[in-house]
Amino acid sequence: MSDQTLHGLAAAPGLALGPALVYTAATVPPPNLGDPAAERLRLAAGLARADATLALHEATLRAAKQRAEAEIFAAHRMLLADPSLTEAAEALIVAGHASAEEALRLAAEVEAEELETLGDAYLSARAADLREVAAQVRRALTGEQTLGERLLAPAIVIAHDLGPADLMSVPRERLLGFALATGGLTAHSVILARGLGIPAVVGLGEALFAAVTSGVTLALDGTAGTLAIDPPAATLARLHGAVAHQSERETTLRAAVDRPAVTRDGYPIALVANASTVEEARAARAWGAAGIGLLRTELLFLARPNLPSEEEQLALYAAVAAELPGTPITIRTLDVGGDKHLPAFPLPQEANPFLGWRGIRIGLSEPATILLPQLRALLRAGARASIRILLPMISTVAEVRQVRAYLAQARAELTAVGVPHAAHADLGIMIEVPAAALNAEALAREADFFSLGTNDLTQYTLACDRGNARVAALYQPLDPAVLRLIQLTCAAAQRHGRPVAVCGELGGNPQATALLIGLGVNELSCAPAAMPHVRAAIRATLHSAAQTLAAQALVANDAAAVQQLLAQADQG
Ligand code: PEP
Ligand code: MG
Repeated sequence: MSDQTLHGLAAAPGLALGPALVYTAATVPPPNLGDPAAERLRLAAGLARADATLALHEATLRAAKQRAEAEIFAAHRMLLADPSLTEAAEALIVAGHASAEEALRLAAEVEAEELETLGDAYLSARAADLREVAAQVRRALTGEQTLGERLLAPAIVIAHDLGPADLMSVPRERLLGFALATGGLTAHSVILARGLGIPAVVGLGEALFAAVTSGVTLALDGTAGTLAIDPPAATLARLHGAVAHQSERETTLRAAVDRPAVTRDGYPIALVANASTVEEARAARAWGAAGIGLLRTELLFLARPNLPSEEEQLALYAAVAAELPGTPITIRTLDVGGDKHLPAFPLPQEANPFLGWRGIRIGLSEPATILLPQLRALLRAGARASIRILLPMISTVAEVRQVRAYLAQARAELTAVGVPHAAHADLGIMIEVPAAALNAEALAREADFFSLGTNDLTQYTLACDRGNARVAALYQPLDPAVLRLIQLTCAAAQRHGRPVAVCGELGGNPQATALLIGLGVNELSCAPAAMPHVRAAIRATLHSAAQTLAAQALVANDAAAVQQLLAQADQG
């Protein structure tokens, strides 16, 4: 019994217990190199066979109405059909350097490494997609066994990396969970695992293979990001209990999804969801969301070499709205810059990217390519749903006025060509720059609603990069300085009858729910998985007590003192 626990990234929630299957790509000897003409024919055949497999996975998911998951395979098929990739592979074949599969692997590797040098998590995940499609073609050409063919009984799969096609090749009941040496939280296999409810831990490093052999008992915790190897009997018994408890708790929380999000003394809070995909919007509905509080649109723009067309944007917004009919759907205009880069719209190197060309600043300086097409798509989606438009990184009144002018222009353009669109859409702003909170009074006269982006508000208030581990101790959303900005924002909004949401991570922290309500917030937007916990916290709150708690927190010395107040309130 080794009783060792490895720690990785919590990729897809849930507990799994069972035997390990160590899955390494079969080492099929490379075929004797044919002449270049024969290899080019093999490449064409491999591409066609791989495309047929991917098309089958895509169709299966579409039939199961798992549209977001189906899109992963549609995107892989687009990569396979990309002439620049095939032409690069053919050039390598013709130069006499490589077999069909090796040429494609090399061509994909060159593109993948280019993407990775940009240092962006999303683009690194797209690099993994390129490698995955090359592997798919290799499998098609060599007849290598798929994961589904290897996994004959239920197990937890251990692998260096897994592609979405690997996951799709396995019947769901046989794949208890998976743990990967590599991988990030935005890898497509991880997105698919979350969508299909398969617990997963990734980023465990090569130590994984030294520690795990096939057949050994594993306990994988996709919520904590841990993998226990051959746990002792007592731990195993506890984990069996936890797995049973997991499904019981899920049942209890699900039973509460229809309970109103209202405080004990009858004060209603709009409990809505953050999402980036149709799949997340579907999860939001399952957890009883009263709408979408923040649809981040970056994902649609990031994973591709060109900007999405107005039609493609409309398709996403309409599909998200269709998941939650009759509810408000708040969609944020593109928020890139900072640490998010677009391959289709390269941003210049800046000394301080978080203080530079980011969010609405980009939209306003590139109206024809970025802002206007998105506003038109949003207005068109608004023809059939209640779409609210949210602007990121607003610092001044002038910015809101300029967007209003572009919104009027977008509406006039649609009217001129007779395209149906919303006659009105609420225009709200993120409050995530301290200047916007301090100037909330003036902004409340311009904007229809506020949404507090506490992730950025914290970094800008405390001058503390949200992604820098060295200054992570300073990054405290509960710092009284941040809370005062929240309170100022709520007070100004209230005077003008404007609703205020919190859509930063603080909105999904049930420990902070009463405090936020006490500060005057009337909408909480959080990840679908956090919703049942926040709902329970709202229902446990007394509005009058929350106001007292907020008053105490505002004059506390620091975040630790606020934490202490929250802990006391929790017990009281
Ligand atoms: C925020 O800053 O709190 C927010 C919700 O926006 P993002 O995390 O996308 O910057
Ligand atoms: Mg932000």
